[in-house]
Amino acid sequence: MPKLASLLESKLPEETVEMLRTAGDLAASGDFGAGEAYLVGGSVRDLILGREPKDPDIVVTGNGPRFARALAEKVKGKVSAVSQFGTAIIDSPQGRIDVATARSETYASPAALPEITPSSMDDDLKRRDFSVNAMALALRPESWGDLLDPYKGFSDCARGRIRILHDASFQDDPTRILRAVRYEVRLSFGFAVDTAEALERDLPYLDRLTSSRLLAELRKLLAEPVRADILRRAETLGILGAISPSLRATESGLKTMEQFGASGPETDELLHVASLTSSLTDEEADAVIARLEPDREWQAVIRGAAAFRDVASVLESADLLPSDVVDLLEKIPVQVIEFQRIAGPKTHQRDHIEAYLRRHSKIHADVTGDDLADQGVPRGPIMGKLLHELKIARLDGKVASRHEELELVRRRLPMLLSRERQGTDQPTGAAIP
Ligand code: ATP
Repeated sequence: MPKLASLLESKLPEETVEMLRTAGDLAASGDFGAGEAYLVGGSVRDLILGREPKDPDIVVTGNGPRFARALAEKVKGKVSAVSQFGTAIIDSPQGRIDVATARSETYASPAALPEITPSSMDDDLKRRDFSVNAMALALRPESWGDLLDPYKGFSDCARGRIRILHDASFQDDPTRILRAVRYEVRLSFGFAVDTAEALERDLPYLDRLTSSRLLAELRKLLAEPVRADILRRAETLGILGAISPSLRATESGLKTMEQFGASGPETDELLHVASLTSSLTDEEADAVIARLEPDREWQAVIRGAAAFRDVASVLESADLLPSDVVDLLEKIPVQVIEFQRIAGPKTHQRDHIEAYLRRHSKIHADVTGDDLADQGVPRGPIMGKLLHELKIARLDGKVASRHEELELVRRRLPMLLSRERQGTDQPTGAAIP
């Protein structure tokens, strides 16, 4: 059994090593609901690969939440969440610590949520997705740093291989298909031959996933800095098409996504959604939305590409007024417009988009609804019309101050009121005298 104590001590921040030693001591004392305590999953993998490990995940045999409360007290942290599956989160001065009860999982049917039973450490590693994620480092003092590696994850780390633990792994949980390609690209690994074959064979199982699980996994993918490369690979492997025949990653969409990503990790997720869905027609957008059931913001962005295409040719005209541009673009999500700014042609369209994003979209009238009410404007359609006209007048430079706006209101109000009385109302946006 390889001993990785020196790796633990040299690669982790001192406070984290201290915390892990405390966890090991607590387990060894046998008083706090735990027999064994291990560091598991991604942080063990990253330590071995020389990558910076993320927040530590600890697994204990026994009672995870009880152990978490004892550990939280020792490290001056607080247990912020406990789940029915025996997991707990500690918020500590050193960051977040996840504590879980070692468990086994059985799948009643493909893609169903697993049934969970507290179990041994071996069973806990057996339920995991890939060999490189199925390693654990012992934390008790007498076994500190011993590597538990029943699936040869260490060797797969060295060979750069993503490998499932058993042939039906992707069928049990098809989210692992997306996880596989995410790790493969993130770590610059390849698939083991059997894993590649199983992945291709089991693509149809993606259909069985609920929308919410699929969407959650897609969001994890979009959060990766190498998201565009992952999507490129997912496209090649047929994963996107298996999610929805309408979903496809185009090279222009991915290139733009890379440009957005280069601006930093805080990039708005919706910019990536706009890039991924930039080629969809209305019908394709509907199909993707039906499969993923995302929130309204995502839906608007997914539909945005088709909405933009409807106005794109008009935007090619050189002599549009600012109000025309606003009229064309204001119902389209800003992320879709940002996408077009980068990916679209460098023509009048680009000039209008840039002017819209920089100036027009920020312009509004000084006069508010309350001001209009003070001028005797009844709340209702007439007030809405006047506010719209004021905004247009501001945009097109016909008024330049609050005073001029109020002048305009005084000029327009009698006509609007009399039209309303006669029931001969004109549509909004009518010429302003
Ligand atoms: P990283 O993305 O760097 O791996 P992480 O390790 O925190 O970060 P999580 O998605 O939180 O990743 O998963 C934690 C561990 O849980 C994984 O290392 C893996 O062992 C296991 N795991 C997560 N999801 C699955 C799954 N669908 N099937 C089997 N095991 C899983």
